Amino acid sequence: MFDTLHDRLAATFRDLRGKGRLSDADIDATAREIRVALLEADVALPVVKAFIAAVKERARGAEVSQALNPAQQVVKIVNDELVRILGGETRRLRFAKNPPTVVMLAGLQGAGKTTLAGKLALWLREQGHQPLLVAADLQRPNAVNQLQVVGERAGVSVYAPEPGNGVGDPVAVARGSLEHARAKQYDVVVVDTAGRLGIDADLMQQAADIRDAVQPDEVLFVLDAMIGQDAVVTAQAFLDGVGFDGVVLTKLDGDARGGAALSVAQLTGRSVMFASNGEKLQDFDVFHPERMASRILG
Ligand code: GDP
Repeated sequence: MFDTLHDRLAATFRDLRGKGRLSDADIDATAREIRVALLEADVALPVVKAFIAAVKERARGAEVSQALNPAQQVVKIVNDELVRILGGETRRLRFAKNPPTVVMLAGLQGAGKTTLAGKLALWLREQGHQPLLVAADLQRPNAVNQLQVVGERAGVSVYAPEPGNGVGDPVAVARGSLEHARAKQYDVVVVDTAGRLGIDADLMQQAADIRDAVQPDEVLFVLDAMIGQDAVVTAQAFLDGVGFDGVVLTKLDGDARGGAALSVAQLTGRSVMFASNGEKLQDFDVFHPERMASRILG
């Protein structure tokens, strides 16, 4: 992901090399190229506009620096602005003062929630926590089983409705999981919820009911970075319908243009907290805006 954006920006910066002080015309031409590169990468228009305005303003006001030539200065400005739209600082998971910490996952079906639950559980275990995975996705026939498989691979317990109890009530399962966690000393509860292929009022209500029942410390919106411009609409719908505290980007290993992933933090005002870049449980890490910016600018 971001290969084309990287190549385009690199070409733009190459054109600046060897130039002395940049004229306003140079800055405008560079800004135009960056704008096209971002739009082609699927970055949302309002984000692109604000980005370009900031780059232009800073490039015009840039002091003649001893340390950086004009091309390097532009790279630095673009880098800083990329870090800014990606949320600035790394936003860490907040743990509750009184365990268990409750983390709820929300997102469309196929976004990678269940896989992410396993990744997060493994990561938490490696940090010395005792996570419990909760199967509150009772919509998809195989979801409970899939979470159990993922839990086994991550070496963590899964709280799920008893087999044979019919469809079950996801809100009751989620509520029950907290009592179970307290009794068994699990200190982080990760609740996997159901998603649909599209935005769906009933599912959104269900997620909101689960949220009200378990009062999560963190609601994480899981977003497939491959879905392009739809990401923005989806994120807004989840922000309105359930609300969330942070974003997890999945499938960053894909070859889509990925600009929507670059827009979502800025448009929702919520930081990207984790990133997934593969199907294996280890393909997961805390999201660092500055590392992502460096990867794009390479
Ligand atoms: P859910 O419906 O939101 O629970 O999504 P799943 O966890 O079932 O994931 C849907 C599909 O995406 C599965 O085939 C996963 O293996 C795959 N997947 C999840 N995360 C990633 C990722 O970061 N990269 C890649 N390439 N595939 C992923």
